[in-house]
Amino acid sequence: MQVAYDPVYAHPLPEGHRFPMLKYELIPGQLLYEGLISEKEIHRPGSCPDDIILLTHTSDYLHRLKNQELSPQEQRRIGFPQSPELTARELVITQGTIDNCQHAYNNGIAMNVAGGTHHAFADHGEGFCLLNDFAIAANYLQQTNKTQLLVVDLDVHQGNGTAKIFENDPSVFTFSMHGGHNYPFHKERSDLDLPLADGCTDDAYLGLLMDTLPALVSRLKPSLVFYLSGVDILLTDKFGKLKVSMEGCRQRDEFVFRTLFNAGLPCVVSMGGGYSPDVRTIVEAHCNTFRAAKEIYGV
Ligand SMILES: [Zn+2]
Repeated sequence: MQVAYDPVYAHPLPEGHRFPMLKYELIPGQLLYEGLISEKEIHRPGSCPDDIILLTHTSDYLHRLKNQELSPQEQRRIGFPQSPELTARELVITQGTIDNCQHAYNNGIAMNVAGGTHHAFADHGEGFCLLNDFAIAANYLQQTNKTQLLVVDLDVHQGNGTAKIFENDPSVFTFSMHGGHNYPFHKERSDLDLPLADGCTDDAYLGLLMDTLPALVSRLKPSLVFYLSGVDILLTDKFGKLKVSMEGCRQRDEFVFRTLFNAGLPCVVSMGGGYSPDVRTIVEAHCNTFRAAKEIYGV
């Protein structure tokens, strides 16, 4: 199983920052510790070149990102202070998702320890997202061989950036299941949006997913699926507002992988959000995604 990761993923933040950056080194550490993956399955991506970023993002935004020219207001909207290291990190994570596409076409599945930066729009970032890794990878794939692609976004927050980027592109179908009363408060229009009520429990969550995903996959027949496996759906999450248990979250991942595997579909996974107060809860939920992927795809 290819796992895209580089030590730059765990970017230092100011003391007390609310983003759990530590998870990015704890996840591969745990996966190695328990023997789910070996060192040689860890893929260290290079830096995504400008011409590929520019298939998705505007040149003005990329220029300002690379030259530390974001305004204070733009940085506040993103939630991280700008720095050359932060931009460099995003470019490595993005390349990890791109590399994972080829690996998934060849081997069934590939995982990125970070990514799933679905709040990044073509011309601006927000909600801890600077560059939209799924959008960049999808546009990169479509450049050489246009096929039907599907984004399954199960982070608790709507994939507003992804929805907007592909709003006029039927070749990339965007499906987002998210808290209807959660950030972003202005929703964009995905190809399929399923807003969830606050307090949504395992049964309601999994029932809706089971009623939707298999039919969607058999109708669209995508060549590859991008899966955003955010664990901010957990009842312990500080921002999520849902009541999905750890076991329910694990069953979600298993159901997604089983559905895609049975349909013979390659899958590229990025982690997305997770804001439970105890970082061990976040890491356990993300590691469950890797465990399910490995078991079901048999890689
Ligand atoms: Zn989220």
